[in-house]
Amino acid sequence: MAAHFVVECIDCGTLSPYSPRTTLCPKCHSAWRQARYDYETLAKTFVLSLRERPFHFWRYLDLLPISNAANIVTLGEGGTPLHHAPNLGLMLGLPNLFIKDERQGPTASFKDRQAALTVAALKEAGIQEAVVASTGNVAISYAAYCARAGIKLWAFLTSMVPAAKMQEVAIYGTQVIKVTGTYDHTKQVAAEFAKRKGIFIDQGTRSITPVEAMKTLAFEMAEQLTPLLGSRLSGTGKLKSSPWRCPDWYIQAVSGGMGPLGVLKGFEELQLLGLVSKKPGIAIVQVEGCAPMTSAWKRGMDQPDVVVSPITNISTLSTGDPGRTYQLLRNQLTKPDSRAAFESVSDEEAFRATHIVAKMEGISLEPAASVAFAGLFKLVRQGTIHPDDIVVVNASGHTLPIDRDILGEGWETEVSLPGTTEIEMPREGLLAALNRLDFRLRKIVIVDDDPNSVRLIRRILQARGGFEISEISESTKALEFIRAQNPDLVVMDLMMPDLDGFGLLELMKKDPALASIPVVVVTAKMLVPEERRRLTGQIQRLLQKGTFFDDDLFSEINKALE
Ligand SMILES: *Cc1c(COP(=O)(O)O)cnc(C)c1O
Ligand SMILES: [Zn+2]
Repeated sequence: MAAHFVVECIDCGTLSPYSPRTTLCPKCHSAWRQARYDYETLAKTFVLSLRERPFHFWRYLDLLPISNAANIVTLGEGGTPLHHAPNLGLMLGLPNLFIKDERQGPTASFKDRQAALTVAALKEAGIQEAVVASTGNVAISYAAYCARAGIKLWAFLTSMVPAAKMQEVAIYGTQVIKVTGTYDHTKQVAAEFAKRKGIFIDQGTRSITPVEAMKTLAFEMAEQLTPLLGSRLSGTGKLKSSPWRCPDWYIQAVSGGMGPLGVLKGFEELQLLGLVSKKPGIAIVQVEGCAPMTSAWKRGMDQPDVVVSPITNISTLSTGDPGRTYQLLRNQLTKPDSRAAFESVSDEEAFRATHIVAKMEGISLEPAASVAFAGLFKLVRQGTIHPDDIVVVNASGHTLPIDRDILGEGWETEVSLPGTTEIEMPREGLLAALNRLDFRLRKIVIVDDDPNSVRLIRRILQARGGFEISEISESTKALEFIRAQNPDLVVMDLMMPDLDGFGLLELMKKDPALASIPVVVVTAKMLVPEERRRLTGQIQRLLQKGTFFDDDLFSEINKALE
C-alpha cells in the first residue's frame, strides 16, 4: 500500500519515507523531522472520511502515520469528553470554560494517544522490542499497549517516580529499570542501552508518532466545540467563517512539551484543510521547581533555562532539559498571528487546585494535571485570559490515587461502633457514634435571585463543611426569612428586583433582632463611590462575582464570623 504521508526534515526539507527504524534525515542526518500529508486532497476528503467513524482516536486515520488499519492496537483511546465547567467558570468569570477529560484514556492519562499510535507503528514495522524513558505516565501507557501487542518493553524510570506508578508499569509485564538520578539522566541511560542493544527507543518530540498522536487533541477539541458553541454563542452575531471552532486558549501542564507541539501541528493542519481560521493561544504551565521553558520565555531567551536538579514532588513534570522542543515551540509562538502564555506554579498551588477542581466540578486529578488549572487561575487573575475567551484546559491525567500529603489532615471522620463483631448492631452504640458526628454547624442564609451564584456559593461552603445553608431568592421575603432562620451570617447579592441589596441592608440594620448579623455582599455590580459609601460600616466584606476564588469566599466568611 502506498503511504499517504512522508517525513520532512525540519532542517533541510528533504522528504523521505517513514519507518520507525530510521531516525535521521537521509541527507543532513538531522534527528528532527515531521510527517506531511497530501493536504490538497485531504481538504476534499477528510471531513467525508469522518462520517462513518465513531468518535475515537482512529477516526483521524487519514491524518495519522499508519498505512494499514489492521495494525491498530486499541484499548479505546481518544474520543475523551469535553466537559463544560459551569462552576469553575462562574468562580473565574469564564462562561466558556471547558475541560478536556484525558483521565478517561485507558491508562488514565493523555499519554495513551502517544502509546497507541507508536505501538501501532511498531507493529506495522514488525518491531517486537522497545525502550522508553519516562517520568511515569508514558511508561504506564506503553506498558499496557505493548502488553496487548506482544512487544517486549524496557521502561527506564527515574527513582523520583512514586512507587505506585512503578508498580503500575510492572503489572503489565514490563521490565522496569529504576535509575537513581534525574529524568534527564534516565533518558541518557535509556538511550545508551537502546543504542547498544539496537532496540527501538521512543525519542519523544523527535520521534514522528508522539507529535502526530497529540495533534488528535486539536482535532477532537475543534469537533467537540463546534456544536457546543454553535448554540452557546448564538445570538452574539458572531459570523462563523470556518466550519470548525477553535478555542481562544489551550492550557496544559508541561514537562517535555509534546502536548502543545502536537496541538499546534493539529490546528495548523486544520487550517491547511480550511476547517479552522486560526490557532488557539497556547498557555504552557510548568512547576516552579522545574520550569526551564517558562523561565527562558520570560527572559526572552531562545534556549531553555536547563534545570539540572528539579525541585518538585510532581515528578511527572520533571523534564529539566526540554532541548530543542522549546525552540520549536518558541518559533511557532512568536509568530505574529500567535498568542502564548508561559507560567509557573508551586507544588502547593497545584495541590490547592486539585481540591478546587474536584470540589467544583467532580473531577479528581493527579497533581501534574492540576498544574494546568493552577496556571489557569493565575492567568485569569493577571488578565491574560479574558472573560469572553473560549478556554480548554487539558485534564491530562489521574494515574494514581490521591495521596495523603495532598489531602492534608482532617479529611476523614471515623465512626467506631462498640461490638461490631456481633451480628446485631447495638442501637445505642450507633446513635452515640453518630452524635459525635454532629459538629457545631454555622447557619448561613444566602439572599440572591441568580440560581447560578447561589449554586456556586453553596458548593464552596458545602465542600468545606461545617455550614448549614438556606437560600431565598425573593428579597422582599428575605427579612422575614432571616428572622425565622436566625443565621450566624447572611450572604447577599446587591442587584435584585423589587428590593435591592442596599434596601434590604437598611431594613436589617433598623431591626434590632437582625442588626448585628454579619453580612457579606457578593455582587456582579461594579460599585460607584457613592454606593461604596452606602455600604461602609454596614457590611463585613464585599466580593466581586467572577473574580473571587473559593479560598477568598471561605476566608472572608470565616473572618466575618469571628
Ligand atoms: C506527560 C504529562 C504532562 C506533560 O506533557 P508534555 O506535553 O509532554 O509536556 C502533563 N500531565 C500529565 C498527567 C502527563 O502525563
Ligand atoms: Zn535534513
